[in-house]
Amino acid sequence: MIALFVKSPRFLDTTLRDGEQTPGVSLKPDDKLNIATLLSDIGVSVIEVGSAVASDGERESLRLISDAGLKAEICTFVRGVQLDIDYAAEYGAESIHLVIPVSDLHIEKKLQKDREYVMKMAWDSVEYAKDRGLIVELSGEDASRADQAYLYDLYAGGVERGADRICFCDTVGVMTPERAGEIIPPLATLAPLSIHCHNDLGLGLATTLSALKSGASSAHVTVNGLGERAGNTPLEELVMSLEVLYGVKTGIKTEELYHLSTLVSRLTRVPLPTNKAIVGEMAFTHESGIHAHGILRDTATYEPIMPEMVGRRRRILLGKHSGSASVEAALSEMGYRTEQRQLQEIVSRVKQLGDEGKRVTDSDLHAIAEAVLDISCTPVIRMKQFTTVSGNSVMPTASVTLTVNGEDITQASTGTGPVDAVIMALRKAVQDVGDITLEEYHVDAIYGGTDALVDVTVKLRKDGELITSRGARTDIIMASVEAMISGMNRLLRKKR
Ligand code: MN
Repeated sequence: MIALFVKSPRFLDTTLRDGEQTPGVSLKPDDKLNIATLLSDIGVSVIEVGSAVASDGERESLRLISDAGLKAEICTFVRGVQLDIDYAAEYGAESIHLVIPVSDLHIEKKLQKDREYVMKMAWDSVEYAKDRGLIVELSGEDASRADQAYLYDLYAGGVERGADRICFCDTVGVMTPERAGEIIPPLATLAPLSIHCHNDLGLGLATTLSALKSGASSAHVTVNGLGERAGNTPLEELVMSLEVLYGVKTGIKTEELYHLSTLVSRLTRVPLPTNKAIVGEMAFTHESGIHAHGILRDTATYEPIMPEMVGRRRRILLGKHSGSASVEAALSEMGYRTEQRQLQEIVSRVKQLGDEGKRVTDSDLHAIAEAVLDISCTPVIRMKQFTTVSGNSVMPTASVTLTVNGEDITQASTGTGPVDAVIMALRKAVQDVGDITLEEYHVDAIYGGTDALVDVTVKLRKDGELITSRGARTDIIMASVEAMISGMNRLLRKKR
């Protein structure tokens, strides 16, 4: 590996500013503090916290995070306007990201001013902010579409007037990695330079890497690549590329990246694309038969990085691509031993389910294995009836009658909703034969109308044994009951 980069690039995380500008995202001050604390703990150098001029909530967030005593430098976004800078200082920011439009398009169309006016605004703002004791990162908005000679003069004059750092914004994500290699080096001689890239054409990461290679000493990033439109360069992708491909020690606690990513996804309510690099659900999941076989022998065959490096675990899914090696591995984990002929039959039934477009849960695999291995499948529990009541003025209530080992048992329960109530009643009804806890309940997205099929998956635990089970019905309560009964039967049935 060749170390092509500055020894330890700094990361300015703008999840709480540019990331929050993702359409539909709005974070409360407490949520922002949670995210900022984790960002600081994992080793991000600078955290850009919103824009104090925007609202009372933004000012409260800035105050809260500035007062939290975090290790990271707390920065806030300001325009070349004295009021913005006053708020930044007043609410405790250590530094400002001073954003000045620099392309003729932005200067003439957005501001309706000219280049001279903007140059003076930038320089006056730097002086004003330095007088207020702030660290200043002078940032050129839409720099990649600006006249580069004008941009150079604007930065140079800003640095003369005390700007501590400069930032090059590829605001609409149109700079290529090659072009970054040409225009960053002269600018990077003026002052420590940050690169801020957007992903409109999916080039944010590549262009950021190229700029770091060409003299930039800091990169602006967001968790999960959140940000305006198609978003910004993702923190997790940049950190892992630097660490794994270029051998750069970033100083980031990489094993915390997945935790950070899921926290941000939950609080922003922006789900992670399943195939997202590093943090997507499928990033360390394998199904294909030949690949899974290779992975079982040596994980490096089909994984460029170990999932544990980013705080994750490998998953092997069964489906129509599954080969006998991964099916056998899954079976032996469940405690089944098979002969070759039985294994082939199980594999072919797994593929059949996959061909029908189904995900094969371990509940399905159990059922297949028990049928093929001719293990008695007499269920311990049978559903006789259930009733649920819910509405806007009644406590959600459910009653169930089960036959448990041949004996009828009726139980009732209330809950936060009809599904919760019926699951509580089911657990009560079987508590004499086994203490079963519900660890996870998941409903798959329903596409189509209100009559579409609902897919419920539950994770159940009994005495340390954890299983997943599924129910699929057009009625969400029926699907939940089906998943519970089939899972409880598996846990209560004696294994051979
Ligand atoms: Mn931006």
